[in-house]
Amino acid sequence: MSPNKLETPLTEHIRPGHPSPDLAAYQKLGGYQALRRALTEMTPTEVIEAVKDSNLRGRGGAGFPAGLKWSLVPSGDDAPRQRYLVCNADEMEPGTFKDRYLIEGNPHQLLEGIMLAAYAIKADTAYIFLRAEYTCSERTLREAIAELFAENLLGDNILGSNYNLNIHLHTSAGRYICGEETALLNALEGKRAVPRAKPPFPPQVGLWGQPTIVQNVETLCCVPHIINHGADWFKGLSKTNNSGTKIYGVSGRVKRPGLWELPLGTTLREIIEEHAGGMLDGYKFRGVIPGGASTDFLVEEHLDLPLDYETVAAAGSRLGTGTMIVLDDRTCPIAMVHNLETFFARESCGWCTPCRDGLPWIEKTLSAIEEGRGVASDIDLLHQHSRMLGPGRTFCAFAPGAVEPLQSALKYFADDFEQHISEKRCPYKHLQS
Ligand code: NAD
Repeated sequence: MSPNKLETPLTEHIRPGHPSPDLAAYQKLGGYQALRRALTEMTPTEVIEAVKDSNLRGRGGAGFPAGLKWSLVPSGDDAPRQRYLVCNADEMEPGTFKDRYLIEGNPHQLLEGIMLAAYAIKADTAYIFLRAEYTCSERTLREAIAELFAENLLGDNILGSNYNLNIHLHTSAGRYICGEETALLNALEGKRAVPRAKPPFPPQVGLWGQPTIVQNVETLCCVPHIINHGADWFKGLSKTNNSGTKIYGVSGRVKRPGLWELPLGTTLREIIEEHAGGMLDGYKFRGVIPGGASTDFLVEEHLDLPLDYETVAAAGSRLGTGTMIVLDDRTCPIAMVHNLETFFARESCGWCTPCRDGLPWIEKTLSAIEEGRGVASDIDLLHQHSRMLGPGRTFCAFAPGAVEPLQSALKYFADDFEQHISEKRCPYKHLQS
């Protein structure tokens, strides 16, 4: 937004504890200049090319290249004329609250990103699919959208161009699976929120069968800055060959839990020791789940790895949402994983048998081990289950994600599993405050 080449473009104008910039304030900061530029100087294809050149990758967790995704929307003469842009704001990944921070801190930044993406794919209708519990975000967005309609920045002939766009705000029914993009599309259509088979992917067959781009809040917030400052500037923000910044977050027993916008590729050690202030006195770092709950643990040997998509994958995990949950030496790793698997078992949509029946088995087995009722064969059972629910064995990515913390806990904290079973008790009980 600002003409300065900002190092923290997404959060520069967010002031926690203060009201978010309204339309006038956002425009004073340079807001909607990118939209004006796109509508007056750029074709939709040029906007897609700019995003492609920037190497912006989806910040919802999977890291799929955004520009490539947009370019998959059919564009020939016989292509469907109706297309949709959907902003995925159903932020339900445990430990993840970055999108809420962006929405409530600077709603117009997100709305400008939505408008640019919608223009790029020639959509005249956009939806924001918002987590049901985010009532403050809902209020903030409703007010911001109303401001845009009042100033002819939404509706017909935006800024005097021949581009028309309507944005609808839809609140979710409140289930984790609603954030999976095709379950989200079913939910928007008023159907049961279960995932669809892919392919076809939404850019070809999406909402009501029409080409649809589903993109996370943080990803869309990057777009106005890319249009304002260019692809090379965006690439240069990152410490590695991934582009841009990332909103990293830390929760757990650290001195300053929170969120920070940092260059993509910042090391785990810098995030935990500098930004989160290090571990609380009396606690030691044991591991971290880097991307919300549905990723594998990283441990001490990974502290100096740059947290970007490829490096984290090479270390056997995934960057995911980049908002991490720290495990300390006084918290039982089995209790932590049990807590996560209880969540996933409850949130399974029930569509396919391995996920619907497998996750409750995992939850019950972990509960038995944690309570001192486990037997030696339970460990094999857990290994077997995490394989049976792995990639390609279930209808969607929910169960493979759900078993990631379990399979890595079995690897890194094997002694803890064995100790619980041999001693028939949780050795951490007396350590917990
Ligand atoms: P995915 O890799 O299947 O897809 C990612 C995106 O790329 C989708 O938009 C998909 O349509 C697109 N895509 C992938 N292959 C494509 C192709 N061949 N053609 C066209 N488009 C293609 O991942 P996913 O299941 O959408 O998401 C999984 C991620 O979501 C995980 O990393 C997890 O961490 C994250 N997640 C985030 C939250 C949250 O609250 N932010 C919640 C749950 C899960």
